[in-house]
Amino acid sequence: MTKYIGVLSGKGGVGKTTVAINLTTALSLLGRDVILCDADLTKANVSLHLGAHRFKTTLHEVLWQQATIQSAIYYHQSGIRFIPGGISSYHAKNTNPEMIKGLKSHGDGLAEAIILDGPVSDAKTVNAFLSLLDELILVTTPDLPALTDTLRVLHLAEQHKITILGVVINRIHFNEFELEKDNIQAMLGLPVLGEIPEHVSVRAALKNEKPLVSHDPSCEVSKAFKKLASLIIGEEYHAIVK
Ligand code: ADP
Ligand code: MG
Repeated sequence: MTKYIGVLSGKGGVGKTTVAINLTTALSLLGRDVILCDADLTKANVSLHLGAHRFKTTLHEVLWQQATIQSAIYYHQSGIRFIPGGISSYHAKNTNPEMIKGLKSHGDGLAEAIILDGPVSDAKTVNAFLSLLDELILVTTPDLPALTDTLRVLHLAEQHKITILGVVINRIHFNEFELEKDNIQAMLGLPVLGEIPEHVSVRAALKNEKPLVSHDPSCEVSKAFKKLASLIIGEEYHAIVK
């Protein structure tokens, strides 16, 4: 059975796509059969992070019943498989939030798990996304505005029968102006799954159009993503890359 694992945040720019891409890469490196899917139907951008955006077939064509899902799966040079969303205004315009629910009938059996980069949008769109999931990972930055928005999506998620695995705190500067891990844990009532530092290597990987975990495997942020992947599958993390 295919598990649908969503990555969601309350606001944009906190690193949701970065987490989804690197989690998928780290899980693939651990030998897991996973596919990354861009499930933000109005602001798809996974493919842009991976340096590829001219696709004849995207998730949109699949959901419009114009193509098979197999024809929308692509291999990235890093080795991961991904399903891009259409990035044009035509794709965004011809989308309704309920459409994402159709992924279930196409995705079942494709892989052990599909990692879904979720939408930052209105409650209707977020609820449609949540209804698809088995498990959810929230991503936030350690500041009050982001956390307040995270609480809003958490409240929506709690109305669905899904397992909320916890929260990833991303873009940490480790300074006195940030909310601490314990505060975040207490405010959300969720375990912290990972603490990812703010690091220039993330932008370097984006510039190089690769997941950081494959672009710079030994950097501290890559290690944090690999640790996160190990935690998600219940394995102990061992840093084998020097
Ligand atoms: P979202 O999907 O939540 O909108 P992105 O993953 O696109 O966020 O990240 C927004 C920007 O922040 C991107 O330019 C990305 O490279 C950068 N970024 C994300 N996480 C980090 C990090 N840990 N350190 C440095 N830059 C980061
Ligand atoms: Mg994004």
